[in-house]
Amino acid sequence: MYYYCDLLDDMQKFCQYGAETGIVGESELGQQIPYVFVGNKNGNYMIVQGAMHAREHLTALLVVNLAKYLVKNSSLPIMGGIYFVPNTNPDGVRLCQEGVGWITDKQRKSNLLTINGGADFTQWKANADGVDLNVNFDARWGEGVQNGFYKSAQNYVGKAPFSARESRALRDFTLQIKPCVTLSYHLKGEVVYWDFGQKSHRRHRDRRYAQAIAQYTGYSIVSGAGSVGGYKDWCVDALKIPAFTIEVGSDQFEHPFPYEQFAVILNQNIDLPRKLLNTVVRDSVGLRSVGINSDVFD
Ligand SMILES: [Zn+2]
Repeated sequence: MYYYCDLLDDMQKFCQYGAETGIVGESELGQQIPYVFVGNKNGNYMIVQGAMHAREHLTALLVVNLAKYLVKNSSLPIMGGIYFVPNTNPDGVRLCQEGVGWITDKQRKSNLLTINGGADFTQWKANADGVDLNVNFDARWGEGVQNGFYKSAQNYVGKAPFSARESRALRDFTLQIKPCVTLSYHLKGEVVYWDFGQKSHRRHRDRRYAQAIAQYTGYSIVSGAGSVGGYKDWCVDALKIPAFTIEVGSDQFEHPFPYEQFAVILNQNIDLPRKLLNTVVRDSVGLRSVGINSDVFD
């Protein structure tokens, strides 16, 4: 298993290696949400984030290794810079992996046990306040079929959009970085989500990128939004940028997802962030006109 403390160790190693590291913000319980930056500071940025849902912590390990790949292969051409945010929900991940033992606040501990209905948190998706972060963004917030309106292990939208500290932190970080594309890693299903009602050329553009992602990874594209109130949804809706949710990992496995599958998943995604960023940047500077070239990734 890949623990939060392993992530902090890896961040130190990135730092020792000379990569820029920093903090996106803090969780409800004051744990840091770190990032590592790889590439050039030329104004063209991408954000790649993982572990928004606690039980999907394998995606934190995935995002760290996607960053490592680019650090180790620094001669690969990259037309901008990538902010990798491996663990967006550090409290939730610790809950899922360690239970409530590490939480010092007795009242919170007892509330969490009640919400969860027991001490086994392996299926937990929310943060330490029972908010599902990926339905807490301001993009048709609360309109989802599966949305919940009370604290829960999953699907609770929160009191208001951005009521959770983690989603606010990621929002503010994103507004500061101004990425031209974002990638969110979730688990599981081997599918790519891209659609949040984009119109005309943006619809054509984002679908084309999604097709390229599907081709590269071997995953399937899902038509329709699938959900509302997610980070990807907000990026598409509020920022008008291409944004994707990739559900890695085969559906034949159940949560807690077997880490034995990690090598397969890493291999399917290994150079995807760089290829996608390069393509988006090339399109934006007019080196390639959208829609003409179907062979998106070089
Ligand atoms: Zn998820």
